[in-house]
Amino acid sequence: PLWPWAATDSSLADAGPPSLRWRRAPPPPDPYGALGAGPSAGAAELRRRYRRLVRTYHPDRQSADAPAEAVEECVRKFIEIDQAWKILGHEETKKEYDLLRLEDDLRNLGPVDAQVYLEEMSWNEDDHSFSLSCRCGGKYRVSKDEAEEVTLISCDTCSLIVELLHRS
Ligand SMILES: [Zn+2]
Repeated sequence: PLWPWAATDSSLADAGPPSLRWRRAPPPPDPYGALGAGPSAGAAELRRRYRRLVRTYHPDRQSADAPAEAVEECVRKFIEIDQAWKILGHEETKKEYDLLRLEDDLRNLGPVDAQVYLEEMSWNEDDHSFSLSCRCGGKYRVSKDEAEEVTLISCDTCSLIVELLHRS
């Protein structure tokens, strides 16, 4: 069965045919969030978080006399983690999801005003960040640490964003 532990756990079996119900569970809106990771988390970190969460929330690990709501919540969480891992645990589906999310970000954040390379931004020694003036007078700012990962930077004043291009 899809969930080998489900068949042996009567408290869960009572909730209905689990494999049917759970297979239809929608993917979590934010699989990174489900794993407690940031959107720039790498494969190793995601795997580490997934393993820890699965250990915590696996229904087999819950005590037999736990209240029904606690079990329900734990199962919900476990499914969410599992769904998140189905997406983020494989390079191909992760890439696909990241692309979709990027497109979503673009739509949600607002118009992309420009595409820039890091070299075109000014370096600020005082707070170790790169910045670029927005035409509204505000600033696009990205820290040195974030610059490697970040692709979209929003203006600190208006809704415009720039896309940071990375030389491969
Ligand atoms: Zn602006």
